[in-house]
Amino acid sequence: MKKKIVVLGTGFSAFSFMKKINRNKYDITVVSPRNHFLFTPLLPSTTVGTIEFRSIIEPIRNLDNIVYHQAYCLNADTENKTVTCKDGDTGKIFSLCYDYLVIAVGEVTNTYNIEGVKDYALFLKELSDARKIRTKVIDCFENASLPELTEEEKRSYLRFVVCGGGPTGVEFAAELHDFLEDDVRKKYRDLVKFTEVVLIEAGETVLATFDKKLSEYTMKVFRRQKISLKINSFISRVTERKIYLKDGSNMNYGVLVWATGNKPTDFIRNSGFVTDKKGRLTVDMFFRLKKDENSIYENIFAAGDCTRLETGELPATAQVAQQQGIFLAKYFNREMNVKDSFKFKNLGMLAYIGGHKALADTPQFKGTGFKTFVFWRSAYLTRLVSFKNKLLVIFDWTKTFLFGRDVSNF
Ligand SMILES: Cc1cc2nc3c(=O)[nH]c(=O)nc-3n(C[C@H](O)[C@H](O)[C@H](O)COP(=O)(O)OP(=O)(O)OC[C@H]3O[C@@H](n4cnc5c(N)ncnc54)[C@H](O)[C@@H]3O)c2cc1C
Repeated sequence: MKKKIVVLGTGFSAFSFMKKINRNKYDITVVSPRNHFLFTPLLPSTTVGTIEFRSIIEPIRNLDNIVYHQAYCLNADTENKTVTCKDGDTGKIFSLCYDYLVIAVGEVTNTYNIEGVKDYALFLKELSDARKIRTKVIDCFENASLPELTEEEKRSYLRFVVCGGGPTGVEFAAELHDFLEDDVRKKYRDLVKFTEVVLIEAGETVLATFDKKLSEYTMKVFRRQKISLKINSFISRVTERKIYLKDGSNMNYGVLVWATGNKPTDFIRNSGFVTDKKGRLTVDMFFRLKKDENSIYENIFAAGDCTRLETGELPATAQVAQQQGIFLAKYFNREMNVKDSFKFKNLGMLAYIGGHKALADTPQFKGTGFKTFVFWRSAYLTRLVSFKNKLLVIFDWTKTFLFGRDVSNF
């Protein structure tokens, strides 16, 4: 009889695992609240319509020989080898048995319990978040176009604040800048002078994980693009219309996008498994979950953002998660007869910073500007997971270049 693997999640690590594993050899059941794989590196581009939402997702049901349940896992019973899951829609609770469990649930955005963030800020993690941002941005322009508004009221609607100067915050600010330059100038001409993009970062620089020269270059480009940079700044409270900073200042805003660090999901927090200081599951170099200091679970594996290797921390990025998922699939395909443990191959980092400029910080070269932008686009194009995605993204880029971004709201 085939052994049963239950996979939790449909992100980078789970999806690459399921693509590479021999699905005729194992019975695979996937549980995830998201019935598609999402190519997050291009998610910021969907928030203003440079790329359309469905161009960067791949339905899980396109993979054959897999049973999928749209639900989230509540807990794992390691004694009885079962997981309990709940469908967020109907509330139905059910259990699944497993021979092997693969945990790849990623992390969620950390609000650091700052008052008002959960209620009023928008996150950028899922496609539904990007859709909310796109709707809200366009709403702000339509609101600011109404008659009898004061200049101050228009400015408030059109102040777009991004909290977090990591790759997600920077790329969102860059996309917003392009939208203002390319589309708002044509479609909301009278409002251009009231728009402002503010990037708030608690550290000393944006893109702190990139080479120092590249992060300095980004700050220079942002200042030239009139993106207001507030570094060493902390948000202390958010209300429906206002942001309060720790230094005592405050500002009205139309949209606040929260792109700060991550924290563990409720499932991981409540799992009782061994975690590090940041709440990440500790795994060995074959992704077997640690039971305690000296022992492992032979049949429970974990990969991606929700984990930390016992030998040291790797960055929480798509390439790490993907390489781990692929390694794990090969490990299963060879029925665990693998001598060499996981080795991470650093492919480097890329980021888009607006105005057809990008950054590349790779082991081979460091680049900036237009040529790197072309490299950035071609690199992501090749990394998209299906031919359909590649075709749709090329089509979207061409459409945006020829006709601009669509500002319809529905
Ligand atoms: C906007 C954005 C841009 C990014 N850009 C880049 C980039 O350019 N380059 C890069 O390397 N990285 C980038 N990243 C980071 C990258 O997306 C993550 O590191 C990667 O997705 C982690 O993969 P994962 O499989 O661990 O988790 P995820 O891809 O986050 O997947 C987690 C999965 O688990 C599911 N899940 C959650 N809870 C449960 C539960 N209780 N039960 C079952 N399923 C559950 C989720 O629905 C999801 O399907 C970006 C991230 C974001 C948000």
